[in-house]
Amino acid sequence: MGDKEQKIKELVEKYQDDIIKFAQDIVRTKSYSGQEEKLVKLFESKMKELGFDEVIIDKTGNIIGRVGHGDIKVLYDAHIDTVEAEDRENWHYDPFGGEIIDGKLYGRGSSDEKAAMASMIYGAKILKEVGIPDNISLYISGTVQEEVCDGLTIGLLIEEVVKPDFVVLCEPTSLDVYRGHRGRVEVSITAKGKSAHAAHPNRGDNAIYRMAKTVVNIEKLTETFKEDPFLGKGTAVVSIIESKSPSINSVPYESTIYIDRRLTLGETKESAIEEFKTTFVDPDKTEINVLTFEGVSWKGRKISQEKYFPTWVLEENHPLVQAGFEAAKLARPGEDVKISRWIFSTNGVTTMGRYHIPSIGFGPGDEWLAHAVDEYVRVSDLPKAAVFYALFPFSLVEKINK
Ligand SMILES: [Zn+2]
Repeated sequence: MGDKEQKIKELVEKYQDDIIKFAQDIVRTKSYSGQEEKLVKLFESKMKELGFDEVIIDKTGNIIGRVGHGDIKVLYDAHIDTVEAEDRENWHYDPFGGEIIDGKLYGRGSSDEKAAMASMIYGAKILKEVGIPDNISLYISGTVQEEVCDGLTIGLLIEEVVKPDFVVLCEPTSLDVYRGHRGRVEVSITAKGKSAHAAHPNRGDNAIYRMAKTVVNIEKLTETFKEDPFLGKGTAVVSIIESKSPSINSVPYESTIYIDRRLTLGETKESAIEEFKTTFVDPDKTEINVLTFEGVSWKGRKISQEKYFPTWVLEENHPLVQAGFEAAKLARPGEDVKISRWIFSTNGVTTMGRYHIPSIGFGPGDEWLAHAVDEYVRVSDLPKAAVFYALFPFSLVEKINK
């Protein structure tokens, strides 16, 4: 390991300027969800230029590159779409300028998380140069449309392209090792009533009044949610309320609320639905539904998924977590490396939450900068991340052979 570590660090130093320049090019290539084609093509040509063993764009439009030919499949994933940055007047820097000021690379997607792809791709190239372990195949995926439906397109990639044995999610972790996050389910609750002229309200059945009582009960319900020592507490937010009425002079016959329910460890879609049902004041006139995401990828593929994103945690003593911890310490000598978790959600809802493929997180940048105005990534994170991505397969082989 010492020998490989030395060689990897020398190569990262050699390519450091290329890594940073590539990260700037990536940030300059706008890639809102559903509009990632240009960036996918940029990754395709870079992977080919750097000598990847295989480069494909799948049916959805995800980019996947591979180095190595071994049986153990390791996937490093970064979603390469971003949320928008159309509030240009609030930014002090061009969100697509790729400027570096005081050691910070500014721009939308710099931390969340497409700049990570520069470190991942060069990490894989360096790994190939030092000699990839015989039993490892390393896949680098740039997945699309994560910001609109986390886990959806990586799920298609796993079903159609490669089923990895281990996953590293390259969302921002401040170069620490993360091993889980809360899940989420989005639901609607609809209360039915009966319309009547507003001059004779007693002839109708007011759906808003029925719903209002349910809303009050939901607020009380949130106080009973469980606390998990690692992930924290579940939450529920009634975010939208709407109703249907023939006119302003009528009793409404229907009212619907929309809820974002964050799920901590031990809470599932099913448990959340059962809890919400206890808040109904009139169960036979109230129904609950899980929402569905529907979209179209840049390749024109129609994609959809139920909006349930399972909670996941990988135990701290799992070889994958320990391998990540080891590689992170080597990539950050003299620094304090932590094992922690995200507050937000990632593609881990599918890799670990749905498919139970051991997953961890490691990425440059900070979670709190995701979706923020003046988003940036510390330039110094990028070479350190490249060291991690090149070293990690060696740490993994060591830990799983123990
Ligand atoms: Zn992200």
